[in-house]
Amino acid sequence: MQDKILKNGKLFVISGPSGAGKSTLIEEVLKSLGNFKASVSVTTRPKRKNEIEGKKYIFISDSEFDDYIKKGQFLEHAVYCGYKYGTPKDFVKRELGRGNNVLLEIEVQGAMQVKNSMPEAYMIFIMPGTIEELKKRLSKRNTESLIEIERRLQAAKKELDFQQYYDCIIINNDYNEALLNLKYILNENTK
Ligand code: 5GP
Repeated sequence: MQDKILKNGKLFVISGPSGAGKSTLIEEVLKSLGNFKASVSVTTRPKRKNEIEGKKYIFISDSEFDDYIKKGQFLEHAVYCGYKYGTPKDFVKRELGRGNNVLLEIEVQGAMQVKNSMPEAYMIFIMPGTIEELKKRLSKRNTESLIEIERRLQAAKKELDFQQYYDCIIINNDYNEALLNLKYILNENTK
């Protein structure tokens, strides 16, 4: 059974296909909105060159990941394109308890687990303009191999089916507009 989590702050789940621009939007939001914290996930995915250990992810082995599961330390966890990703419960619990709002940038399977265990979470889905646009962005950022990009595009098509379970959808055609929309939604839901 899940531990009871104190809910003084507000929990937001942000999902959307890889390359939709979630991370960039969240980084910008964190700079300008006080009282918001982004959760640090653990993953078995190899670290990319430009990533800093402990910033967005803690990079761990498969067996360490299984230990987290065994010890009941995850709020949610899922497999995405062959790698495991999970949100440690402690951070979320602590920050919400402190009255901070918490942002979880997670894929759709994990998001559904959170929706189930914490139905008060506000669910935001970030959409790319088109799949073509997504393809362009994934290729341009130069962090994944061609096979990896193809896997992510296949995953994106499935992820789009989950939009219906979210409270709001932001289309990231125009970055500044998407940022304004995201800030507005976060502000409105923390009043
Ligand atoms: P990436 O490998 O591009 O950093 O992330 C791949 C996908 O995993 C993205 O959709 C990202 O939002 C999602 N993700 C990142 N951390 C977590 C997590 O803790 N749990 C789940 N379920 N998904 C995550």
